Amino acid sequence: MTASADSFKPTVNPSDFRIKPGTSVDLASLKARQSGDFDSSGDSHAELAYHRDRIIALQERLWAEHEQSLLVILQATDTGGKDGTIRHVFEGVNPQGVVVTSFKQPTPEELDHDYLWRIHKHTPAKGEIAIFNRSQYEDVLVVRVHDLVPKAVWKKRYAQINDFEERLTETGTTIVKLFLHISKEEQKERLQARLDDPDKRWKFNPGDLADREHWDAFQAAYQDMLEQCSTDFAPWYVIPADRKWYRNVVVAAIIADALEQMDPRFPKEVAGLDEIVIPD
Ligand code: AMP
Ligand code: MG
Repeated sequence: MTASADSFKPTVNPSDFRIKPGTSVDLASLKARQSGDFDSSGDSHAELAYHRDRIIALQERLWAEHEQSLLVILQATDTGGKDGTIRHVFEGVNPQGVVVTSFKQPTPEELDHDYLWRIHKHTPAKGEIAIFNRSQYEDVLVVRVHDLVPKAVWKKRYAQINDFEERLTETGTTIVKLFLHISKEEQKERLQARLDDPDKRWKFNPGDLADREHWDAFQAAYQDMLEQCSTDFAPWYVIPADRKWYRNVVVAAIIADALEQMDPRFPKEVAGLDEIVIPD
């Protein structure tokens, strides 16, 4: 940590963004365009750096300890900022201990298995942080909105996913789930920006426009996901994400706190190190 870290007073309180298990969620009333105690992007940089330093230091311990693991799940509507969040929040973290998996449309082989098969293969090993860019939740989101399986099938998945996550947490994995919440107006601006900037055009997918037409159906599906799958063992957080810089600080604070609660320790020293003399 930096020398000033001891005296720095962070302003973001992770529990403000956590969905309490069993409560109802009204996404329309949760403001996407917020910036907490900050007036501008520049204002937020010191706190982002503070939480990032905490993440870097704690990840080193987690890796050295080799006992527990962290799974970070990111879900968002198209242009919601999943990639940018990963890039900014994990800047400076030793890449050796961090694995990012992006879940795309399932392959024919994946479709021939149960929907959690492809997910389980990528859960973090001891000492690792795994980041899921999309996840098992696509199977109650896009799959539900586009009627890819009957309702009777996706309805059961909320409980199945909770069981799956409970088993992971019981076997040493801490799970943090982040929903990046942007407004429909912000999505329009971001899609337009992708069209206008030649360096961003590669990100433009005409399919995103088709999904934008299903905005309300997606919001309803996100709400059910948040209501049914925010649990004590694997909570969901709703991140106000219209302002990218505020989103980054909030996510960094949540991840740093989760790692702190895991309290990873360097392994016990081997006895007799003080007597060792390295031969010439
Ligand atoms: P992107 O993240 O922009 O590269 O897009 C990946 C696409 O894969 C998105 O349109 C997702 O909705 C889609 N996708 C991810 N998981 C699933 C799934 N289980 N079933 C169907 N489509 C999926
Ligand atoms: Mg996309």
